[in-house]
Amino acid sequence: MASPKLALLLVLLHAAFGSAYRWFNWQFEVTCESDAYIAPENEAATAKFLQEQYHKGSHIKVVGNGHGFGNLTTCVDNSLTEKPTYIVSLTNLKHLKVNKADMTVTFGAGWDVDDLTEELKDNGLSFNHLGVERVQNFVGATSTGTHGSGSNIGNIASQVVGLRVLDSQGNLSVIDKKHNAEELKAFRISLGALGLITEMTIQVQPTLLMKKTTKVLNATSDYSKMYKDLAQLYKEHERMTVWGPHFNWDADTQSWALEPTYFLSWWEPTNYTDVRNCTLNYCANGCGDCKKEYICYDEMIDAVSCPPEGVCAREFYAEIEHFLPIEYYAEAAANYTLFQQAQTPRMKAPYNHQMVFQHRTLRGDDAYMSPVNTYNLGPGLSGVFAIIEIDWIQEYNNFTTLWQNQELAFEFLTQFGETYNVRPHWNKMSPPNATYTLEKFPKLPEFLAIQERQDPKCQFVNEFLVQQLGITRCAGFLSN
Ligand SMILES: Cc1cc2nc3c(=O)[nH]c(=O)nc-3n(C[C@H](O)[C@H](O)[C@H](O)COP(=O)(O)OP(=O)(O)OC[C@H]3O[C@@H](n4cnc5c(N)ncnc54)[C@H](O)[C@@H]3O)c2cc1C
Repeated sequence: MASPKLALLLVLLHAAFGSAYRWFNWQFEVTCESDAYIAPENEAATAKFLQEQYHKGSHIKVVGNGHGFGNLTTCVDNSLTEKPTYIVSLTNLKHLKVNKADMTVTFGAGWDVDDLTEELKDNGLSFNHLGVERVQNFVGATSTGTHGSGSNIGNIASQVVGLRVLDSQGNLSVIDKKHNAEELKAFRISLGALGLITEMTIQVQPTLLMKKTTKVLNATSDYSKMYKDLAQLYKEHERMTVWGPHFNWDADTQSWALEPTYFLSWWEPTNYTDVRNCTLNYCANGCGDCKKEYICYDEMIDAVSCPPEGVCAREFYAEIEHFLPIEYYAEAAANYTLFQQAQTPRMKAPYNHQMVFQHRTLRGDDAYMSPVNTYNLGPGLSGVFAIIEIDWIQEYNNFTTLWQNQELAFEFLTQFGETYNVRPHWNKMSPPNATYTLEKFPKLPEFLAIQERQDPKCQFVNEFLVQQLGITRCAGFLSN
């Protein structure tokens, strides 16, 4: 046994020089072994670290909070490479400045969405764009195009008006709407491939009160009719999320049983000034009594999204989220549901529990890698997108079941991608196919040109990015 003194020395040496660090995403199924976890204290220290690593060609994977289903945050495993490989988190960059004169907030990359929203609320400010949950790092959420629901609102990235970013040599670029508006379109959704974003400036708005109305609807296996009715409701409600239909796994018949009801919520601005009460029922990931009709009022942030404490369930689940022009929505949703049902006989692994469809809308934008980019839309399409999500939720964290469901999830894009001009969410299992990516993201060549400038030695890429984006110059990134 090592003497207490030696053990203490080893602990101190590890603390001083770092040691291998295993990275996991939120549900522990995406993982890799890096040489160390690096969390620089500020932008200058981050730049210094990058300068030092550039000569060695070290692999560098910058991460937020790992709140995704895909391989964006997978580092280059140290078993695969001779070069050093690091997970870098900018969690310590916590400065913040509110500028009420031009309604912007500038903040360091360490801010998580939830902390930032609390800070905004304290300052009588808000913003219009949030996902269902607020557990992400803000830059992490922005970098994949995280979104909520609304035909006239954009994703989180669309409110970014400026940022500071370090390239692989530690050089700083300041990108903003005023001086380099075209480049900003590349950096808004950068997938961690264009450098380490150290600071962001976003547009905010005064506190906005919303009324949230939740209704319970009857489900029917006539999916064509059900989704036509929902498409009509999307015409009536600009900002609406549909949670359903829901299916429960029937172990006896080995099939999915349709729950008789499901629910939806829509939001609208209000001048109500009484008690704010949407936080009493978040209805996110297993929390709250969701299938009931109610009205609540709250500040926009609490009316549309939920803080970490509002999330109850954390079973393994597989998920897809596909964006497609809203004009195709009713037909596509019916075909997605029928396709899923036709695959049920394959879902033999144990521990299936629930399958939930979710539907949202989003306004299109011009960020190069935005899943709702409007660059390839033909005439006659409005530029509003529908979002179809399917969650396959397990009752137990069993890998066989997870992998079975993920494999099935990947097939939806092959089945429907071309037909409905579908773009998958970057952090929700988009399959690696660069040809398809180029078709749906016509600005990919411009994005890759900036990628090369920012990362000439391919230090920021991983296998997922190389495959998905077709970064052919980085094909040998493990050994170059
Ligand atoms: C249960 C669940 C619910 C979800 N709900 C929604 C939803 O409602 N809407 C939605 O759109 N998405 C949703 N997502 C997806 C998820 O929130 C986003 O994809 C988001 O990107 C995750 O943020 P993160 O901070 O964990 O980032 P990570 O997953 O850690 O990183 C995301 C990307 O950002 C890059 N990055 C991180 N920090 C930096 C930096 N400083 N500089 C440069 N690049 C950086 C990383 O390299 C990576 O490419 C959900 C995910 C889960 C697991």
